[in-house]
Amino acid sequence: MTIYIDLTPQDVPFELLVFWTFDSLGKRVIRPEYKDLLCPGCGKVDVKKALERGVSDDVIFTTTRDLFGSRDCMYLVNVRTRQLLEDITATAIDYYEVPSVPDYFVALPRKLLIPHKGDPNFLIQPECKVCGHLKDARYRFKPMQMNVDVEVGAFALENGLGLMPLWFVSENVVKAVKATKPKLRGFSFGRALNPPECDKSTAEID
Ligand SMILES: [Zn+2]
Repeated sequence: MTIYIDLTPQDVPFELLVFWTFDSLGKRVIRPEYKDLLCPGCGKVDVKKALERGVSDDVIFTTTRDLFGSRDCMYLVNVRTRQLLEDITATAIDYYEVPSVPDYFVALPRKLLIPHKGDPNFLIQPECKVCGHLKDARYRFKPMQMNVDVEVGAFALENGLGLMPLWFVSENVVKAVKATKPKLRGFSFGRALNPPECDKSTAEID
């Protein structure tokens, strides 16, 4: 049984948005290149389609972190992190170039587990009738059994802006990150999502 640990980026002292920007009145608005990807029902952006279209030239930042998170919940990694993850997870993660910061990529695991209604491990609001995405989905952080066989994946949580992935990684990945010298910066590992003693098999993800 693979033990999965949740992975979140540590906070950074700046606010970066990948898909959104601010208008002249300071209101948060979708970047013009993704305007047609907004759902008219719930107002959320289709994150996967936006990433496939490409990250905007206006996404610019400076950081010494090897992993950090954007305000719209994307995980950004640099070349060094990508290399390490690719060594362990092969093609389990898609990487999208950040054209104005060529050392960095938006990273998204291919294995996205969508919480099911009635699963007590998640707090869920029903799906939008237009786009089919859950209006809101949060993790309650209860141990669960997970029937997946990957080194890395993510729960497809949702907030009012769109997909809010919560990554989980195998102990192999945790060990490899912790063994790096100099140590990779920006990783925050939480608890085991599925500790061996867990017998509450309630998850209906995926
Ligand atoms: Zn919608």
